[in-house]
Amino acid sequence: MATGYVFDDIFTKHDLPGHPESAHRLFAVMDYLGKNDLLARLTSIPSRPATREELMRCHHPRHIERVEEISRRGGGMLDADTYTNPFSYEAAVRAAGGLVDLTAAVLNGTLANGFALVRPPGHHATPIRAMGFCLFSTVAIAARAARFDQGLERVAIVDFDVHHGNGTQDVLMEDPTALFVSSHEYPYYPGTGAIDEIGQGQARGTTINIPLSMGVGDEGYKRLYSDLVFPILRRFQPELILVSAGFDAHWNDPLANIGLSLTGYHWLCQSLINLAAELCQGRIVFTLEGGYNLDVLALGVGNVFRALLGDTAIGDSMGPSPWPEPDVSALLARLKTIHNVK
Ligand SMILES: [Zn+2]
Repeated sequence: MATGYVFDDIFTKHDLPGHPESAHRLFAVMDYLGKNDLLARLTSIPSRPATREELMRCHHPRHIERVEEISRRGGGMLDADTYTNPFSYEAAVRAAGGLVDLTAAVLNGTLANGFALVRPPGHHATPIRAMGFCLFSTVAIAARAARFDQGLERVAIVDFDVHHGNGTQDVLMEDPTALFVSSHEYPYYPGTGAIDEIGQGQARGTTINIPLSMGVGDEGYKRLYSDLVFPILRRFQPELILVSAGFDAHWNDPLANIGLSLTGYHWLCQSLINLAAELCQGRIVFTLEGGYNLDVLALGVGNVFRALLGDTAIGDSMGPSPWPEPDVSALLARLKTIHNVK
């Protein structure tokens, strides 16, 4: 079975020259996939606008209307970091609809797995506001579609972007059918994602926040994911794994201070793919969030596709982090206590 992807030119028309979250990010990715004989091995799934119903499962109608209006009037800033231009609304709703359809193709058995190469990113967009370069909560919209339109009872979302996925958390924090795991630099933008944010009401325990000190890298991630996240995923028994894939936790990213290498990223992605094979017939779909070093981003996405296709070779021209890692033992012990992992 094939590996799918979503790409649309509209995702490169949402752009602000000089902004780190620019169209150059996707140009770099598509160029790399083309030159390294990966694109020709993938099945394209077209984008389509998410419907108003799909958007409203995660967002207040006034937020949706505000983004649409400001974009249709020519664009403008929605907060200090988050821009729109005349193409932004269309790009954001097509990012969400594209991920929904890619996920549906994996769930109905047309595709084995996939990666949505979409912009703008989504994981900071809350039910009521755009922020952190994000307009709509793409991954949460896809999780809700999997639940309401495909009948799934348990969807896991793993967010390894270096920033906390506050928007995804806000949408899903009272939803016990969605397990949300975020590993992120902390304290850092957007300020949320403390260890004791674990979900609310019936969903208490289905939000897992892993706040990382500066410099945590491959060894720390291996311990935290192997000894905490993977046991929690096995306990939750998801029918689908969605991944908010941000490549800004790489040591050479200009916006953050975490120490993953491309080899560490590959270990993490391959492990999640293996876990999907073990738990949910291999059903895993990645969606692009951040990542602002263009070489890291292109290689990182390329390595995910290699893993999805079953290749074993990867590219890591940048090597390991040059900085020593802090020990994560105390953090891991605290997390295991909070989440009752033996
Ligand atoms: Zn990020």
